Amino acid sequence: MAASGTAVGGVIPLSQRATMLRPPATLAIMAKAKALQREGAPVISFGLGEPDFDTPERIKRAAADALVAGQTHYMPTLGDPETRRVIAEKLVRENGLEGVTEAHVAISTGAKQSLYLVCQCLLGGGTEGRRDGGTKGEGASDEALLPVPAWVSYAPMVQLAGGRVRELPTEAKSGFKISAAQLKAAITPRSRVLFLNSPSNPCGTMYTPGELREIAAVVAEAAATVAPNLVIVTDEIYEKIIYGGIPHFSIGSVPEVAERTVTINGLSKAFAMTGWRIGYAAAPGEFGARLMKAFEALQGQMTSCITSFLYPAIRVALRECAEDTERFRQRFAQRAELVCGRLAAIPGLPAPRPTGAFYVFPDVSAHYGKRSHGGKEIRTGMDFAEALLSEHHVAVVPGEEFGGVGKNHVRLSFACAEEEIEQGMTRVAHFVAGLR
Ligand code: PLP
Repeated sequence: MAASGTAVGGVIPLSQRATMLRPPATLAIMAKAKALQREGAPVISFGLGEPDFDTPERIKRAAADALVAGQTHYMPTLGDPETRRVIAEKLVRENGLEGVTEAHVAISTGAKQSLYLVCQCLLGGGTEGRRDGGTKGEGASDEALLPVPAWVSYAPMVQLAGGRVRELPTEAKSGFKISAAQLKAAITPRSRVLFLNSPSNPCGTMYTPGELREIAAVVAEAAATVAPNLVIVTDEIYEKIIYGGIPHFSIGSVPEVAERTVTINGLSKAFAMTGWRIGYAAAPGEFGARLMKAFEALQGQMTSCITSFLYPAIRVALRECAEDTERFRQRFAQRAELVCGRLAAIPGLPAPRPTGAFYVFPDVSAHYGKRSHGGKEIRTGMDFAEALLSEHHVAVVPGEEFGGVGKNHVRLSFACAEEEIEQGMTRVAHFVAGLR
């Protein structure tokens, strides 16, 4: 008889889906930072992608009250109508998404689940009306256009849905933004999704309203000609964290593309609520309502509704907490100033100035070919990050998993206290000064 956990003749195989994704190399360095910390090393982490602030008190109170009052049972899969209505009102009022009603909104377990579901609904599974679920494989040619460097989860989500990522490379000198012309040249009849993320993780840059209008015009023209099924998926999770003078603009407010745009957002970043796991997707019109029905079908078989007693907290956050988000925004603006000032004084770490989110993304390639004080040769962003961590106990995220030129960059998150930024940047300066 085979031993427990093994099949006759070998190990029990896992599905292709479960094994096709590369384990992120960046996780290894973050794990090392944690291990060093546990051993008592004074690690300063510029690694985390979450605000260090506490969730505003009144949001916590709303959830606690609902919990105590017994709001602890299943609720409608996509959220209770009142909360979906509050989200729809927010999107119309703040983002100009005309015509969005509660029927066009789905609440999920973080923006991450919303994005996952969008990919599942749009990519890789053949077309509506087919009964074989697209198993004949033609769905694999569905393309998702992804400006890179990009947040690490978009590409795996596309892959898991059976789609194919088509990277649109960007670089520092264009502020890590695609141009309308570049997009136009990349669209093919197979293009199904265009991801946008402004403000951006990992680059901290934002598209201007004018640039987004130009992109919208390209999408509208392509939709009328070569790519009738192209949908914009715009991830606006950092919309409240902006400080560079560029206003946040929702591409879904442009009439020509409104009914082919899915807007993704959530409470994690704006309200310091990463652990609550609240995100949402919205899209207007007939397409939006149909998409939300598809969300309901999928989410209903996966996770059902989010935690029931969180709904009142969502309403409080979106209706009553503008002062809190403004307070957080101001702190991030100060930190951006601080970190950029310190970075500019370190030779060979050029970085476009972030205008949103809480990341800065310097290019470290000027130091390739040098050796650190501890003797490590620097040939990649990963080498730079590893040596910085082991020799100076500063954790940054190497950029290779973000795609494109990311491999020559490291991401510094400044979602940490000002004193830590000061100390950490002093260590970075020493580290760079010691490179020979
Ligand atoms: N989108 C981007 C660009 C992010 O950086 C993150 C989290 O880091 C998410 C989505 C996921 O957010 P949530 O916590 O709502 O799942």
